[in-house]
Amino acid sequence: MKVLVTGGVGYIGSHTVVELQQAGHEAVVIDNFVNSSPVCLNRIEQITGKAVTFYEGDVRDARLLDKVFSEHKVDWVIHFAGLKAVGESVAKPLEYYDNNIGGTLKLLEAMKIHNCKRIVFSSSATVYGQPEQLPLDERCAVGNTTNPYATSKYFQERILQDVFASDNSWTVALLRYFNPIGAHKSGLIGEDPSGIPNNLVPFIAKVAIGQLSEVSIFGDDYETKDGTGVRDYIHVTDLAKGHLAAIEKLQSHGVYTYNLGTGKGYSVLEVIRAFEKACGRTLPCKVTSRRAGDIAAYYACCDKAKRELGWEAKLGIEEMCASMWNWQKKNPKGYNG
Ligand code: NAD
Ligand code: UDP
Repeated sequence: MKVLVTGGVGYIGSHTVVELQQAGHEAVVIDNFVNSSPVCLNRIEQITGKAVTFYEGDVRDARLLDKVFSEHKVDWVIHFAGLKAVGESVAKPLEYYDNNIGGTLKLLEAMKIHNCKRIVFSSSATVYGQPEQLPLDERCAVGNTTNPYATSKYFQERILQDVFASDNSWTVALLRYFNPIGAHKSGLIGEDPSGIPNNLVPFIAKVAIGQLSEVSIFGDDYETKDGTGVRDYIHVTDLAKGHLAAIEKLQSHGVYTYNLGTGKGYSVLEVIRAFEKACGRTLPCKVTSRRAGDIAAYYACCDKAKRELGWEAKLGIEEMCASMWNWQKKNPKGYNG
């Protein structure tokens, strides 16, 4: 199938483009490099041995979208493009709503004009807000979100549902990712955050490579197995494969919602131990106060994706940390090192 991948040069997008190409699909990518590097495109090509059809530009640019849809008969769109930093979204809500919601609106308009009505949307576990139960399943309440990033994801889900309600010939997959980490096994592509990472595993990787001095553990007095925060980490390659499962399995029109995680919760301390095993040394750590707005524990029930898409995560925390370390070691300064 021919798949338009917006944000296909980003962290999850690049891994998905690799899996698409390797499964015999053709990826057409749009990205404006607001949070990615052109070097990543070459790396994708190095892994797959295939050229990527690429358009540099913004998904809010209707003319660009018209050109892309006119030049390609697109079977599916996988929509990754968007801004994703929770803290930044609190400081810049208008930018986040404009980019994320504005981008989705323009994309849906272009899809409608060109009669392409199949879309996979990158949603997030953050749409659940404070969890009403654990594990979280797709029937849990959504919308009680705590920051503009999460709210933008919730709104985009609602917009996609409304589009389907107005025209039942759409097929919409809402994929709610839990915590993607790790990198492609080649070590050629991976997560390349700019500045000091906000997320746990990229931060640990920078400590392991010697660019940051110690890992701060944000609180050890939660009601969890060891007092530290618990999350459902998922290997980015497993996550990428979840997108393939969606486009290959969903044949009927409708709106389909799936959690993509492993269903297992790991604490901050367990992740640090797994990373220490991967990099072969003890990492300096200190316990600090809780991070404002943090939730104690968050993990998914992924039975629905297994049942309906035949997909489940295969790689565990050790493989996630080992692949992350492999990428970090080979690219100490990311793509531009
Ligand atoms: P990323 O920032 O690495 O990738 C997003 C890509 O989209 C980047 O290459 C960026 O340059 C591009 N982009 C952003 N705005 C654009 C625009 N207006 N036009 C064209 N390109 C644009 O992020 P990621 O981690 O790969 O996440 C991909 C998607 O998954 C995002 O929508 C994100 O919100 C969602 N998501 C990510 C996580 C996570 O932890 N990484 C968790 C849940 C959901
Ligand atoms: N965390 C931490 N130190 C850090 C970054 C994160 O202890 O430098 C904790 C955080 O409190 C949470 C877990 O690690 O319990 C995962 O945080 P991350 O930001 O990676 O994901 P999110 O909280 O968005 O799910």
